[in-house]
Amino acid sequence: MHFIDVILPIPLEKAFTYEVSAKEASFLQTGMRVAVPFGKSKIYTALVYRVHNEAPQTYDAKEIDQILDEYPIVSEKQLKHWEWIASYYMCSLGEVFKAAVPSAFLLESETLILRNEAFEATDETSLKDDEWLVFEALQHQSMLKVQEVSSIIDRKNILPVLKRLLEKNVIQLKEEVYEQYKPKLVRYVKLGERYISDEKLNSLIEELSRAHKQREVVLTLFSMEAATKKPIKVKELEEKSKASSSVVKALIDKGILEEYHLQQDRVQFEGEGVSPSKGLNEFQQQALGEIDTHFATNDVVLLHGVTSSGKTEVYVKLIEKVIAEGKQVLYLLPEIALTTQLIKRLQDYFGNKVSVYHSKYSVNERVEVWNNILQENSKAQIVIGARSAVLLPFRNLGLIIVDEEHETSFKQFDPAPRYHARDAAIVLSKLHEAKTLLGTATPSIESFYNVKIGKYKLATIDRRYGNVLMPDIELTDIKEKHRKKRMTGHFSDRLIEAMQEALEVGEQIILFQNRRGFAPILECNVCGHSPHCPNCDVSLTYHQYRNQLRCHYCGYAMALQEACLACGSSELDTKGFGTEQVEAELKEIFPNAKLGRMDSDTTRGKYGYEKIITAFEQQEIDILVGTQMLTKGLDFRNVSLVGIMNADSLLNFPDFRAHERSFQLIQQVAGRAGRTKKRGKVIVQTYNPYHQILQQASLNRYEEMFVDQINERKQFRYPPFIRMIKITFKHRDYNKVNEASTWYAQALQTVFGKHTKTEILGPEFPPVARIRNEYLKNIVVKIPNQQSVKQTKLSIKKIDKSFNAISNYRSVRIIYNVDVY
Ligand code: ADP
Ligand code: ZN
Ligand code: ZN
Repeated sequence: MHFIDVILPIPLEKAFTYEVSAKEASFLQTGMRVAVPFGKSKIYTALVYRVHNEAPQTYDAKEIDQILDEYPIVSEKQLKHWEWIASYYMCSLGEVFKAAVPSAFLLESETLILRNEAFEATDETSLKDDEWLVFEALQHQSMLKVQEVSSIIDRKNILPVLKRLLEKNVIQLKEEVYEQYKPKLVRYVKLGERYISDEKLNSLIEELSRAHKQREVVLTLFSMEAATKKPIKVKELEEKSKASSSVVKALIDKGILEEYHLQQDRVQFEGEGVSPSKGLNEFQQQALGEIDTHFATNDVVLLHGVTSSGKTEVYVKLIEKVIAEGKQVLYLLPEIALTTQLIKRLQDYFGNKVSVYHSKYSVNERVEVWNNILQENSKAQIVIGARSAVLLPFRNLGLIIVDEEHETSFKQFDPAPRYHARDAAIVLSKLHEAKTLLGTATPSIESFYNVKIGKYKLATIDRRYGNVLMPDIELTDIKEKHRKKRMTGHFSDRLIEAMQEALEVGEQIILFQNRRGFAPILECNVCGHSPHCPNCDVSLTYHQYRNQLRCHYCGYAMALQEACLACGSSELDTKGFGTEQVEAELKEIFPNAKLGRMDSDTTRGKYGYEKIITAFEQQEIDILVGTQMLTKGLDFRNVSLVGIMNADSLLNFPDFRAHERSFQLIQQVAGRAGRTKKRGKVIVQTYNPYHQILQQASLNRYEEMFVDQINERKQFRYPPFIRMIKITFKHRDYNKVNEASTWYAQALQTVFGKHTKTEILGPEFPPVARIRNEYLKNIVVKIPNQQSVKQTKLSIKKIDKSFNAISNYRSVRIIYNVDVY
């Protein structure tokens, strides 16, 4: 008898065993996919984990339905890495499997299938009979379940057929319906190069004395160029000079005017791979030398380089070397949507060796990248991706770069696996005997601590590229400004003055406010009532644009009420403020400035960010207001001023990382200012200008901040001095959550309380204790460093088992979050 253990893409602890024939057993290898029946009628795609001869003891093994692959789609090292993730982050291997592979690899009976509009009906002849049956069914019905397909064709063949149809672009899966972005091409003009000098221009004007209209256009363009530093659109020129487009075209055809497009296509990256990498300056050169030296003896190096110090160019040199050795490179970023600028840059150097792995890309694109990596194809020798790219099938990694390593979005929050991509990257790198470079201007406390204790090595660049000065950060006391009546809405006179100066000379401004919406809280002046979400324990946020109150946790929305819902009074007041209100006030203060807003309300859709970033780059926006999205590594050339509307809202977060994060955020936003010749200016508005963190951030005192924070972490027992596991209990029934979490906490106390230094905190309700009608309660386990984390987790797993044996608690969901962020 022959059997295989498989990994199913579900949160099951154990591998499941199926029976296979002798022939199948000799064909199958670890990492191939098989279709298997599960439960009463479900079909799942599972991954072969082990081929063996031991029948399961407690159940009769079913037979598999079908073998789906001819070779493994998962590499050996990858599977080892997944195992580490499952065990370290306390989840099932199936959950890692599911998070790792493109959904096209996971066809199952519940998957919904749509026709792909892009498929031309004339291609029908390329379809096999069974494929054609599905294709035809989709002409009559817009959507099919896999189960329905099974009644159309022979059951055993469903998944392979769908796989082929996907490959032929005939169908798509439900979750993949995504927006197509057609980038807007904006035409600009300038005077042809031949005519740049005054002399040449004069003779040109003379030359055109009889072509009256053309002359008018040239003169208009000349005066427009003198008046503004900004690029001039063809449309604007036509309007100003009252010329028809044919006149402008004639000038372009003659070469008197030059037409150009500022649009950088953000979908079809057109890097040629022909640009030679830049020569490094002495500081970059020195950092590169340090990194090389450290890599000889150490696996992990932290590159601490201030914003705009040219870290990316240093990465490029390292990448050049590693790919010359024929090895793969993984370049991890906190959020891929925000980094089209970087992708373009790397493709300029490395051309089609660069692949991007992105959850928002189509299924075929993702499958293609996956296969290219698996086959060590040169097309995917350099892989740029966010978090989930650490789960890809690398075979021969030489280097992992974790850019902006301090970013908290590297930690997956929901659903499982709740892994930290930076930490998982270091483990992955070890499996490949590769090197990891962490890069940032503001290292996380954890990483810098690891440097201090010698676990990581350090390389530093402490000045900006091209002798550009670090931005000048000025703290403005708004308590004082309020007292002296120098505030206009949320703007101090100082900020307004600096903004006026910048706008006058055509420079751009970024304003940072931590909250979206108009105002977080609407409060009744008479009775103090503020409207709450019916599904969550949180106040609704006022959004002026739609005149709505909205919940930021579950999306619930209601129309704004004219009168208090509790007492009927109409004296309603707003407390706090968000990006929307900043924008509204700006309209009053700077009625002529062009405004843009970047927050999760304005960046919905696949290319939401790109549209705003492009508009800002092309200087179609003078002032950009935004949330933290603005901080992430963007390189704008013409921004001279950054305003932080209210630094206190950052500092007052109830979280042990709040101060560290405030420092990072202020420095990162500030880093967007003055990236070219002129020194950038940053104005930080605050009620506490003497707050230590603000002082440290404004004076670029990273080390001092680090020492303060690390001392606090030590004193109050927080990472990196302990490890934290948060256990969350979730249920619709309030009492059940209470009982279950209390039971669990007692069990933990019994195991750990007496003999170890492990601390059990809680159960306690979090600040928002009900989300989407489910109550939440947390237990936090603090594990001292000298104690085995592995053992502790095993003990917790045991408690988990006993917990699940109690029928009354079985419906309570438990979430384990290891290394809480
Ligand atoms: P960081 O990633 O440290 O914020 P970047 O790598 O984005 O900095 O560099 C900042 C700017 O300086 C970029 O516009 C980049 O093109 C330029 N730059 C950096 N290093 C060089 C170099 N060696 N030669 C020419 N330009 C450089
Ligand atoms: Zn009231
Ligand atoms: Zn809600």
